[in-house]
Amino acid sequence: MTKLVGIYPGTFDPLTLGHIDIIKRAIKLVDELVIGVAVNANKTPVFSLEERVEMVSVEMSEIAQTSGVSIIVKPFDTLLMRFAEEVKADIIIRGLRAVSDFEYEFQMVGMNAALNDEIETVFLMAGARYQAIASRLVKEVARLGGNISSFVPENVVGKLLEKFPTV
Ligand code: ADP
Repeated sequence: MTKLVGIYPGTFDPLTLGHIDIIKRAIKLVDELVIGVAVNANKTPVFSLEERVEMVSVEMSEIAQTSGVSIIVKPFDTLLMRFAEEVKADIIIRGLRAVSDFEYEFQMVGMNAALNDEIETVFLMAGARYQAIASRLVKEVARLGGNISSFVPENVVGKLLEKFPTV
């Protein structure tokens, strides 16, 4: 039997409980999940690529163990479709939040399909309590000294406090 490989790309600056919820849903669909951490020069991330890969990896070991699905965390600096081909992905997984993500994701699907029409993009929605979480807003709350513990894993709370110390 051939195994189904999924790729979940993102910036993960930082990893949130919204991302984790999507990952937990995604592993129900695939035999192997590659989490692609984008260098993303456009967004000038707060966390370095190494920090973001590390943050995701730390949270994945337990999820991989309990689910039995192989989860691989990999940085990438190429076109998403090239990276998807490289890791032999069958599907690309993206998360959708309300309507705001739709326009961008709609365009991405169109562009990606023009590059390779064999790899499908599958959209998943997070559970109700995680739907509104966005890395950008988490950073804003952290910067202003607000409580972020219901948005990100405990380890990430610590990392955000190091970046945005509240004195
Ligand atoms: P990108 O820069 O590619 O948008 P992100 O790290 O912001 O990377 O997000 C990665 C993926 O996870 C995207 O598909 C995004 O829409 C999705 N996502 C992020 N937060 C949530 C959430 N709370 N609910 C559902 N999907 C989410």
